[in-house]
Parts: sequence; structure tokens; C-alpha cells
Amino acid sequence: MNDRTNGEHAVPPEQPDPGHGAAGPRGPGCGSGTRGAGADAASGHDPVPPAAVAPRSPGPDGSPGIFDKNLLDRCISCGFCLPACPTYALTGEETSSPRGRITLMRALETGQLPPDDPTLAEESSFCLGCRACETVCPAGVEYGSLLEQWRDHQWSGRDRPWIARLLMLLVSRPALLRLQGLVRRHARGGPGGRAGRPAAEPAAEPAAAPDQPVSLMLGCVERGLYPKVSRAVRELCPEVAVPSGQGCCGALHAHNGDSVTGAAMARALGEKLPGTVLTTAGGCAAHLAHHLGRDRVRELSEYLGEAGYAPAGQVTVDGRRARATLQDSCHLRNGLGVSRPPRELIAAVADYVELPGADRCCGAAGTYAMLRPEDSRAVLDPKLDDIGRLDVDYVVTVNPGCLRQVQQGLRRRRSRARAIHLAEFLALAGRPGRPSDGLPGPGEG
Ligand code: SF4
Ligand code: SF4
Repeated sequence: MNDRTNGEHAVPPEQPDPGHGAAGPRGPGCGSGTRGAGADAASGHDPVPPAAVAPRSPGPDGSPGIFDKNLLDRCISCGFCLPACPTYALTGEETSSPRGRITLMRALETGQLPPDDPTLAEESSFCLGCRACETVCPAGVEYGSLLEQWRDHQWSGRDRPWIARLLMLLVSRPALLRLQGLVRRHARGGPGGRAGRPAAEPAAEPAAAPDQPVSLMLGCVERGLYPKVSRAVRELCPEVAVPSGQGCCGALHAHNGDSVTGAAMARALGEKLPGTVLTTAGGCAAHLAHHLGRDRVRELSEYLGEAGYAPAGQVTVDGRRARATLQDSCHLRNGLGVSRPPRELIAAVADYVELPGADRCCGAAGTYAMLRPEDSRAVLDPKLDDIGRLDVDYVVTVNPGCLRQVQQGLRRRRSRARAIHLAEFLALAGRPGRPSDGLPGPGEG
């Protein structure tokens, strides 16, 4: 064993993972081995109930309030959430903390602050929406729902940032999404891509057998920027169907001030995808689970863990076992409580090293990196320092936004580490006769 890896490849036992849910789907392509990687995956609870957009309480004049009063009243102002908050860590200001923001929401709800107060606009935008505050809150405050309601009010119509408006338009139009993919391929000099493989999204297939259908959600960002992720899932799980004509799940809308449309898009996508919806994006998984029900949605690492995925080989670099770490997806970890399965899967094919603060947001946060690039980098920078100290070959992610964010950060630092999606990382171990060292190249994700 390489002395750098002594004792480091085991998944830390203290990783909490309360939520990778009840008995889930079983797929023949992934379930050939014993229950190894996700041995505890059938235990846990179901923290996300099916829900429509939360009803709002009436305001003082009988009109609908801005916030669901039951949610707003739940905060007891204890401040336990402050150390967990990345934006509070940046500023040390109460207003940039979860408790401070809830105080602002209350002031807005009661009319103590006018809707156009600049602090309201600033803080509704500065918050990453990472939901780290929820995981430490003793009162069970559903901060993510409150933030959606806040932005519904704060970012309506022309007050919504133009970048968010543009992206929402883009993901709502399949034709524009296809154009996005074409632009990406053209920028790389042709359809073959670096590895000489077609860059189009996987061909549509009929749904799987009706008794156990599992449908892969392609994801609007992923299908445009990282189609290799879906192809890797097809290699790992050939039993999964890829229904055609998929739309966006609506998470982008829900997080950018249009939760009604976001909920409708989730339900519409749920009708197009038979059976269990399999996603490769933590953010989409949390949003879909909220609207379709937790039992219908599985993120890739959960699915593979529950199916007893057994790797065909190892990921190697220069003839040795690769050294790899994980950056959590905030919504997967904080929203759905899933953190252990991806670590166990990585440890099954490489030497796993825990990244300090892997549970802290990387600063991607959906549209955040585009809306607030400086703050986004400030959140990412300490993480890049930690990655540099770990001296890993791969930083594995489970969300396309995190992949892009970490990838760009590593490029700026000229790091030797490569950012890669979990699906592609596992596929490296499972491609017989293919050397893992050359795939994928830096920046290809
Ligand atoms: S959000 Fe939760 S942890 Fe934070 S102050 Fe309110 S009750 Fe306390
Ligand atoms: S969602 Fe994240 S950034 Fe926003 S208040 Fe909570 S911990 Fe802070």
C-alpha cells in the first residue's frame, strides 16, 4: 500500500446518513454483486414528504401572506445554525446568517421593512440556499422552503436577475437545450469529443419492464454540458430506460423565485418518467423528491447502493490505485440526508480520502456562481486549498453544478486533480480493457 493511503481509504464511520430511504428499486444491471457499497442503504428515514407548494397564511389584511406562517414561527432564534452557514463565515454579520435572514423575513411579513428594502434584496441573493442550516436546527426550521417563498416575493417579474430569467427560458425550451449541446460540441471541435465518442445524449429507449421501471432523468444542464454522465449511467445500469421528450425538473425555477412553475414542471416530468426516477444531480433529486414523493426518486449513489453495485475493477493512475475524494451536493446531503453511499462507492474502486468540509457548499449553488461570482469564489477558495493539501487524483461530485464549479476552480489553480462525476468515475472502473488513466481528461468532467 502506498504510504499516502495508509488508513485513508476507509469511509469515515461518522458520516451521518439518515435518509437514503426505504427499500428501493432493484436493477439487474447494477445488482450483480453482494450488497457491499450501500449495505445500509435500506435503512434510514424519509425526510422529504410529497408536497405541493406550501400554502401561505393570510396577511393582516386578509390577503395571502408572503410566508407560510407555521414555517416562519418555528425559528426560536437560538443561533445554533450560525456556525454552519457559509455566508456568515464570510462576513461574520448577523444579517448574513440563517437566523438574521429569518428575522428579515419576519420584518418583511409584518411590514416592518418595505419590500424594496435593499438589505432584503441583498440577503435573499447572498444566501446560497445550501440548507446547511437545516441540518443543525433543533426546531426543524425548513429554511429551504422559506427561501423559496422569500424569492417568490423578492424576485418576481423584472426584479428577477436577468441571468436567472435567461436560464429559466433556456431550460424551458427543449430546442434551446439542444442548441446548447450543439454549441458545446462545436466549441470542442467536433462531435467526437476528446475520447472520440459521440457527444449526443443517449438514444431514447422504450421504458423498462412495467413491474420495475426505472427511468433516467437526463437533466437539462447535464444533457447540454455533460452528456457523458448519462452515457456512463447507461454503462453501469443497462436496465435503466431513458424516455424521450424529457423536460426540466423545475428546480431552477423553484430556487429563482418561481416555485409554482417549478412545482408544475416537477409534476409534469414525473408523468413522463415511468416508475422510479433516477437522477445524477443532487439538486434535481431533492426538488423532485419534494414534489413527487421520496419513494419515487433515487439519486445515482442511492440507487447503486441499494442495488448492491459491484465494481468490475479499480480506477488506477500510473499503475496504482487512484486517490479520490468527494465534494457533497448540498441538496443531496442536507435536503435528502444522503452522504454515505457516494463515499462507499468511491472507496470500492479507489483509495477514498475525506475532504475536510466536504459537507460545506462549493459555491456553485445553482445560479449563484453566475449571479454572484465573487462570493461564489470566496466560498470555493478554502475548499481548493484543502483539495491541494489532500493531493488527490480525483475530486468526485454528484451534481453537475458542483462538477463545473470544482472543475473551473481546479483549472484556475492548475491543480493536477481532476473533477469528475460519480457516474463517470465508476465507469472508469467498469470498462474492461480500457486504461483509466486517460479518461476523462482535465476539464472534461
Ligand atoms: S433557524 Fe433553527 S438553529 Fe437557526 S436560530 Fe432558528 S431555530 Fe435556531
Ligand atoms: S441556506 Fe446556506 S447560506 Fe443560506 S442561510 Fe442556510 S446555511 Fe446560510
